Amino acid sequence: MLAQYDVIIAGSGVAGLYCALNFPANKRVLVLCKENMGESNTDLAQGGVAAVLDLTDDSYDLHMEDTMIAGHRENDPVSVNILVKEGPDDVRRLYRELGVEFDKRPDGELNATLEGGHSRRRIVHHKDSTGHEISLKLCEAVKKRDNIHVAEYSILYRLDRIDGGFFAHVLQDGQARVIAAPYVVLATGGIGQVYRYTTNSPIATGDGIRLAWDMGCKISHLDYVQFHPSSFAGGDANTRQRFLISEAVRGEGAYLLNCHKERFMHLYDERLELAPRDVVAKSIILESRRQADEHFYLDIAYKGEEFLKNRFPMIYNKCLESGIDMTKEPIPIFPCHHYLMGGIRVNINAKTDIDRLYAAGECACTGVHGKNRLASNSLLEGLVFGRRAAQDICRKSENETFAPPPFPTPDSVDGAPLPKGMDLAINDIMQRSSFVLPDMGAVREGLKTIDRYIARLKTGHFALTREYIETLSLATVAHIILKEIQAR
Ligand SMILES: Cc1cc2nc3c(=O)[nH]c(=O)nc-3n(C[C@H](O)[C@H](O)[C@H](O)COP(=O)(O)OP(=O)(O)OC[C@H]3O[C@@H](n4cnc5c(N)ncnc54)[C@H](O)[C@@H]3O)c2cc1C
Repeated sequence: MLAQYDVIIAGSGVAGLYCALNFPANKRVLVLCKENMGESNTDLAQGGVAAVLDLTDDSYDLHMEDTMIAGHRENDPVSVNILVKEGPDDVRRLYRELGVEFDKRPDGELNATLEGGHSRRRIVHHKDSTGHEISLKLCEAVKKRDNIHVAEYSILYRLDRIDGGFFAHVLQDGQARVIAAPYVVLATGGIGQVYRYTTNSPIATGDGIRLAWDMGCKISHLDYVQFHPSSFAGGDANTRQRFLISEAVRGEGAYLLNCHKERFMHLYDERLELAPRDVVAKSIILESRRQADEHFYLDIAYKGEEFLKNRFPMIYNKCLESGIDMTKEPIPIFPCHHYLMGGIRVNINAKTDIDRLYAAGECACTGVHGKNRLASNSLLEGLVFGRRAAQDICRKSENETFAPPPFPTPDSVDGAPLPKGMDLAINDIMQRSSFVLPDMGAVREGLKTIDRYIARLKTGHFALTREYIETLSLATVAHIILKEIQAR
């Protein structure tokens, strides 16, 4: 790792890596990631990427309208317009230039599928592990580029503004380091670890959002959290990271069943199983209260073994590992945390309200998702706004030179050990207070405890470790979410 780069990108998910690939060969780009390059929410994405690639039976207007309906029309129409119109070219680039293998029909055309909230079949996918395929091909492409250096197991924990750029403070191999750059892109992903149960990767602790908050950036709609209706509820009930039963399973015709193995969605929404996620998640919670029972199922066994094993091989195998054969029986499911619609407020070029600081992907709030993300729009958002960040930085840096002031001494990592269990206590507070249907009493009480934790974390002289950095991020994100819920 050098001491100075043209751009530092924190994050190696779809937003960070695609952003990096959009810089020309003469820009020295540093990509930081907390673990290995492939560990991200991107890697976990199953269903696919939504894009209007064939205008015969679909249109950008329809994709826009579906996105706006799912988002309760709280979306920013300018950003949505950019997403649906520019996204198709980025998706084409994935399979034409970067070698991403999307599933094809027998006639050789891409086999687009349907998901909840979409009025047309426009989700391109790689079986049920689209994110892994995209992540793999982006990582391969980045490794071939001499101008991009990837620093794995390197955690960005603070940004100091300097004249013409930033000093980025990074924890690497247990040591603090300082790196300078005129531009920084935060692409640090979501916040799943704030909740007790989540589909997200362990890296999703909201670090980028906390960094931006600490710098005084505008953070928007952090309480717009998406709870996915169908996370796997079989196997070990204590597992925090829940395996997702993709939206595409409902898209292919699965029925939602209550504890009596009866369909119930007609009681809550006329779109039945294909209603948007927030509607289905709320319906499940209301039905669980009506029945006083939290056992729910997704049944697609009637589609037959051959279809299911071919269309959903990963989901089939994962369920089977926990003793559920989805070709013969319903899959136990329950809602859990899945996605963040809000985040660091950015403009249409992914720029925050701080000069030279950008944010893209799940940590950013472009406004495309409104109050509820339409399925498979987030990989698309990472592509479109990751690319736009790179293009904007290239435009702005054309005639610039960057000469940082003398580097500060890196922080000492020594300090007191972090008390055990603070992260789990935060999870419990958030699960009790703001899971699907907020409980205002629990929000009020929870906020008091969270604020005590933040004060303690900031004044306790704790050792600078990954655990400390992440706990501070979890507490900060929890604080912002609860404050926003209170203010609404
Ligand atoms: C189970 C699951 C299924 C999904 N299915 C779909 C789908 O079918 N279609 C769809 O569109 N979306 C889907 N999503 C959502 C989508 O995958 C994510 O929103 C998207 O991939 C986020 O990309 P990202 O680049 O913003 O972040 P991520 O892919 O999460 O990457 C974050 C990166 O930031 C790094 N990082 C974090 N903090 C730091 C730090 N402090 N310092 C350095 N690096 C840091 C991490 O190491 C990681 O490399 C799914 C999500 C999940 C969890």
